[in-house]
Amino acid sequence: MSQSATRPVSATVSALSLPASCDVLVIGAGPSGSACAATLAAAGWSVCLVDQHDFPREKVCGDGLIPDAHAALRRLGVLDEVMAHAQHVSHVRCVAPRGGQVDVPGTLAVLPRRVLDHLLVQHAQRQGAQLVTPVKFDAVIEENGRVVGARLRQGEARPEVRARWVVLATGAGVQPLVATGLCTRRTPSGIALRGYVHNPSLAGRQTTMDVVWDRALRPGYGWIFPCGEDTYNIGVGAFFRQGQAADANLRQMFDDFTRVYAPARALMDGGTLQGDLKGAPLRCTLEGAASGRPGLLATGETLGSTYDFTGEGIGKALETGLMAADALLSGARDGLDEAAVRQRYDQHLATLRPKFALYEKANSVNRHPWLADLVIWRAQRSASLRRRMSGVLDETSNPGHLLSVRGMLRLLAR
Ligand SMILES: Cc1cc2nc3c(=O)[nH]c(=O)nc-3n(C[C@H](O)[C@H](O)[C@H](O)COP(=O)(O)OP(=O)(O)OC[C@H]3O[C@@H](n4cnc5c(N)ncnc54)[C@H](O)[C@@H]3O)c2cc1C
Repeated sequence: MSQSATRPVSATVSALSLPASCDVLVIGAGPSGSACAATLAAAGWSVCLVDQHDFPREKVCGDGLIPDAHAALRRLGVLDEVMAHAQHVSHVRCVAPRGGQVDVPGTLAVLPRRVLDHLLVQHAQRQGAQLVTPVKFDAVIEENGRVVGARLRQGEARPEVRARWVVLATGAGVQPLVATGLCTRRTPSGIALRGYVHNPSLAGRQTTMDVVWDRALRPGYGWIFPCGEDTYNIGVGAFFRQGQAADANLRQMFDDFTRVYAPARALMDGGTLQGDLKGAPLRCTLEGAASGRPGLLATGETLGSTYDFTGEGIGKALETGLMAADALLSGARDGLDEAAVRQRYDQHLATLRPKFALYEKANSVNRHPWLADLVIWRAQRSASLRRRMSGVLDETSNPGHLLSVRGMLRLLAR
């Protein structure tokens, strides 16, 4: 495990006992669940936030915070606190199979999830949410077709918590989704593997967030993200078409990454792997699950809120958590009934769908890395294309446009 990932953080205080009932039971205390719980608790609702792990805990991730995450953290009121712990980064370095590369500027940072998620959980607690861990979600309690609580596991005990609303924010694992009846696709959209490597010899040299495409890494890419304290998050991810089996040998991909990308080789050769390489699934494109059912809302990666193509999901997990909270709060304020609250949540989610569709389109780069050669070759010669790529990062332009037929023709014509 990295030094960054073990930076001293005070232990989170978790209430030992679960309440019998609350306004909202949030299951899963990742970015999505914590953002939702913090917002509801700040508005005076009684919120119980449960997670199967005590905090701080690890989460397998690249730890990259792109502009949408910065914006959502600002909305949540924790950006300054998070950035005080994070490694600030100024560019994403995109590297194509033939070795061409371009540095795209952006508001970026890297912070191991062990630290980030702990800060978010503590923020939710400060707002008044009651955190109880380790508590595992088993099943929903239903009455007259409505979810009215959940059956949980806390050690040997099998407690039940009743709630006006249950929010499911359990991430990419499929079991809770199936247990709630929201699952429409069991297979993940992608799988990824990461490790932390300590290597002081790279100090001052490996400062960008590197994203590398290569034929050997199809259908995905490799990355190196600097965490600070001479530690780097290095990993590979593979993304699949809808309905396709998630079948990739990530260990082989990781070896291939260190073979084809010299900085990855240098990092591993002179460095010390901290802990194990660890893999995890990804659920992308806002597909694979219903957004809710009576008494229940799903948020974050449970709902598929991670971007296809890049695998970034912290920002959209936070955003969808905030959207769920907003639908509940504004629904109560406006006197909406249960169905209208869910409809409002769906309307919020609908504003994200076009972006997800374009990221899905851009995912073709992972299957056909020669497209990265083309885009990067053009970007090296075109300040306006580099600006558009930067706009993709901060969400003012869309990646799908770079790869649409029109976009391609424009690239070739210039
Ligand atoms: C290898 C890898 C690299 C990635 N790199 C990046 C990156 O660099 N940047 C980025 O933005 N995104 C990245 N992602 C995606 C990002 O990790 C997810 O989008 C994000 O974690 C989703 O947040 P969430 O809150 O929805 O779920 P999670 O962060 O997964 O949180 C879910 C929580 O629910 C809890 N839980 C699960 N099941 C239960 C249960 N039955 N009972 C109780 N609790 C439960 C879990 O313990 C966990 O704490 C990466 C993903 C992977 C796998």
